[in-house]
Amino acid sequence: MSLERLNEKQRRAAMQVEGPLLILAGAGSGKTSTMTERIAYMIEQGIPSYHILAVTFTNKAAGEMRSRVEELVGRCDDMWIMTFHAMCLRMLRYNCEVIGYDHNFVIYDGTDQKTIVKNILKEQGINDKEFSAPYLLSIISDYKEKAVSADEYRDAVEDNYKTKVIYSVFKAYEDELKKNNAMDFDDLLLNTVRLFEQDEAILLRYQRKFQYIMVDEYQDTNHIQYKLIKMLAEGHHNLCVVGDDDQCIYQWRGADIRNILDFEKDFPEAKVIKLEQNYRSVGNILAAAHSVIENNRGRKGKKLWTDREDGDKIKYYRADTEKDEARYVAQEIDLLKGRDKKYSDFAILYRTNAQSRHFEEALTQRDIPYRVLSGLRYYDRKEIKDMMAYMRLVVNPYDDLSLRRVINEPKRGMGDKSVEKIQGFANVRGESLLQALSDEEVLDTLPGKAYSGVKNMVECINLCRDERDNLRVSDIYDNLLVKTGYMKALEDANTVEAEGRIENLMEFKSVIYDYEEQADKPNIEEFMEKITLMAEVDNHDANQDAVVLMTMHSAKGLEFPVVFLPGLEDGLFPGHKAFDSSDKMEEERRLCYVGMTRAKETLILCSASVRTLYGRTEYTRESQFLRELDKRLLDGDAVYVRKTRDSGLGVSTGSFDGFAAKESPKPYDSLRYAKAATKANASAGDEEFAVGDKVRHAKFGEGLIIDQDGKTLTVIFDAAGQKKMAKGIAPLKKL
Ligand code: ATP
Ligand code: MG
Repeated sequence: MSLERLNEKQRRAAMQVEGPLLILAGAGSGKTSTMTERIAYMIEQGIPSYHILAVTFTNKAAGEMRSRVEELVGRCDDMWIMTFHAMCLRMLRYNCEVIGYDHNFVIYDGTDQKTIVKNILKEQGINDKEFSAPYLLSIISDYKEKAVSADEYRDAVEDNYKTKVIYSVFKAYEDELKKNNAMDFDDLLLNTVRLFEQDEAILLRYQRKFQYIMVDEYQDTNHIQYKLIKMLAEGHHNLCVVGDDDQCIYQWRGADIRNILDFEKDFPEAKVIKLEQNYRSVGNILAAAHSVIENNRGRKGKKLWTDREDGDKIKYYRADTEKDEARYVAQEIDLLKGRDKKYSDFAILYRTNAQSRHFEEALTQRDIPYRVLSGLRYYDRKEIKDMMAYMRLVVNPYDDLSLRRVINEPKRGMGDKSVEKIQGFANVRGESLLQALSDEEVLDTLPGKAYSGVKNMVECINLCRDERDNLRVSDIYDNLLVKTGYMKALEDANTVEAEGRIENLMEFKSVIYDYEEQADKPNIEEFMEKITLMAEVDNHDANQDAVVLMTMHSAKGLEFPVVFLPGLEDGLFPGHKAFDSSDKMEEERRLCYVGMTRAKETLILCSASVRTLYGRTEYTRESQFLRELDKRLLDGDAVYVRKTRDSGLGVSTGSFDGFAAKESPKPYDSLRYAKAATKANASAGDEEFAVGDKVRHAKFGEGLIIDQDGKTLTVIFDAAGQKKMAKGIAPLKKL
């Protein structure tokens, strides 16, 4: 039975099935749980599950929600519980012909987008120092999020040099994607809105299908997501949105806090239910989080209480350096773990991915298993992207970007000139590159050296496409790997680097096997979609016993018994920009609230009085958020934790009454970091290795470096013997 574990207010919210409903409540009050139980309740009440649409923030959250619902009411495959992107993708797959796409369209990720814009800049002779690809892409994305096309942009802005450049790149970018039968992430949302606008019958069909709509984390919806939901709910208004204005942390990516604040204006008949009991955190953690968020203005008034005990006070450690901070965190994990904890009970949540490196080192040193959920995804590696490009071409023969990526990968003697020649033919014939190359007449124009290699490649891709209903995804992958000559080229290269790449390609095959095992009807289209839509947090496997490292942003909605928030320094958290604008400061403060409220039992805050980040070493001032935090909630001992070794900076007092680190070599004189005389740290990115270093390899375990030649290291492993490894590619860590 559903609803059993809910409290009275939660139950009331779950049973309020008809009409618009806003569940507005602070962190850990059971918003997501209530939404989940509500779905189960509706199905128990006889509402067919295909009438239900529930939108979550991550695929992982969607998966958890679905399994909980199915636990209560049995399997319901036809219920849509998914992210905005997955929802739009599914609708577009069925209907995109209406807006001029072939149903096999592919999705371009950030790297693909950058490649396209860079090509456009080159073609149009625009100086990429003046207008960089990331800058232009962020502008284009901002407009797309507001449903503004390139032409609409031109009509709306003042006509000057800058807007002319932006328009011409924007326009060319739109054309290129369309030509390649590709969409970026913004397009998934935008094109769904366009689809609904262009074909009322389709919109009507979905309005009838989705009689009951729910959206979790509503405070972080952007304009276009808001518009989509409004369109879908228009007829019946059976819309339940769930959120917390204090947790809106994606304004920098277009989230609009007004969507939640104005819900009652949009739907005057809306009921509002506020949940006030927090089930997640002990009293001190809750009170601490509140003492910080209270400093934001313009909040919806919300109370939050807990009947849990006060729990431990909040610990705070003022470290000397970022290394010392990491050492402390690892030491604390060892200490607390000794009591009654698993490694997976601990999370280290930082402001930027760049902070993770020192924690990784310190954890390795103590043999603590960990998992980093970071921006650089496994799928972003070159060899994986190459194979994905081949696979995309199997799905979508119009994908010129992918074809250009792999036409000379492995080397087939196809230089830029030859590619441009083929492009010329393709343009004249109104075909894609792959289509043009599938014609013997065009192939014949290639130089002798390129002819057979390209012909093989084209035949292999086309064969895989024709046979894709009869082949397993892993067979297609094998075919592409072997018949395009990709594998052979790596084997022939016989370098340590190539060996690493081969290992990664094998690893990717196990990803495919996993997928084939889990999917109902495994197919290459679905597999490609899964990989593309995967977000960082989706990689988080709570069953694996390892400490979790991730950004505070990606920790939204999650919870852990012990949470570390390192780097509480002005300029890092809150970031520099927050000091220029109160809006930005408030967004950082909400992020702090999100971070703190992930903790169930223990919250440990840290800062470093000297920090080297992005190669700059600076003295720091303790975070404004520390100053705002109610001092009575702090563990008195922890404030005065003493340094024990190795910084050479003397003892710091770690008090944050007033300004930090009174005994630091140099006092602070401005809000900004005071620049220290210390030299930039040159090896900030890659780890430096030297002969004689002890290292650990992810697979071979511990070993000793005995030789170093350029980018190749020779390591003798205790168990696996002598191996050659590529620096920067092999998963090696210094011990
Ligand atoms: P966030 O704002 O961080 O997304 P939330 O409001 O969605 O949080 P949930 O994640 O649903 O909160 O719940 C927080 C914790 O409280 C979970 O561990 C959940 O199982 C528990 N919980 C929720 N409601 C109850 C209840 N009525 N009784 C006991 N535990 C509950
Ligand atoms: Mg939640």
